[in-house]
Amino acid sequence: MNAPEYVLGSVKEALSYKANTFMIYTGAPQNSFRAPLEKLKVTEGDELWQRNGYDLKDIVIHCPYIINLANTLKPETYEMGKEVLKKEILRTRHIGARYMVLHPGSSLTGDIEESMKQVTDGLNEVLKDEDDIIICLETMAGKGSEVGRTFEQIRFMIDRVEKKNLIGVCLDTCHVNDAGYDLTDFDAVLADFNRVIGLDYLKVMHINDSKNPIGAHKDRHANIGEGTIGLETLRKIVHHPLLDNIPQILETPYVGGQAPYREEIEKLLNL
Ligand code: FE
Ligand code: FE
Ligand code: ZN
Repeated sequence: MNAPEYVLGSVKEALSYKANTFMIYTGAPQNSFRAPLEKLKVTEGDELWQRNGYDLKDIVIHCPYIINLANTLKPETYEMGKEVLKKEILRTRHIGARYMVLHPGSSLTGDIEESMKQVTDGLNEVLKDEDDIIICLETMAGKGSEVGRTFEQIRFMIDRVEKKNLIGVCLDTCHVNDAGYDLTDFDAVLADFNRVIGLDYLKVMHINDSKNPIGAHKDRHANIGEGTIGLETLRKIVHHPLLDNIPQILETPYVGGQAPYREEIEKLLNL
């Protein structure tokens, strides 16, 4: 979120890209320092966003990267992760958004199944008093010991979440490519997603090209049309009828110090 205008600034930025949704970090993604709630300029942002016909409840909040609920080696990391996540939920509610994207985390040298169980224990704890937000587990590229690298792992975690209506999935095209899914047959990928997880759980899309080939387990985003997935495949994905009402978010690299989103949205939408 771009200080000092926070939510208002993000709304202005999104409008300048002709976007009809957007995703924000409520502070630097790498740490948990956060401006006080009253400074976020939610009311002003909400007003401008509504004037353009949109609703802040449909935007996406990305949780900070430092949350690693999958770390079974350091209990303090797990405890800190839950605390940061609880605070992030408060901020999400304050903004009036519903969708939160969370990286399931990395198991490090620990056992993957144990890690995934700890992730869902943590989620069950932080969701205990919630009824309105949806935490979307992001599909990961599988670099290092990331969990959530297959649809089966995501399913394993969802199965253990008590409040199923508060859990969802964010499908990142770069990540699933790097995890080994062939997006040139996107219908097959969606069919697989539906069989293993269920399409109802798909709440957010991250649209990125990838700098690496299928199965590379790298996670390096490329600009639209400049990676191994390619413009044609990404176009088919964003226009897919089953993704009609799902927020689609670009996380592509800046070009010459500038956000490329306006041009990339145009590229993807003009058939
Ligand atoms: Fe992410
Ligand atoms: Fe992503
Ligand atoms: Zn990524």
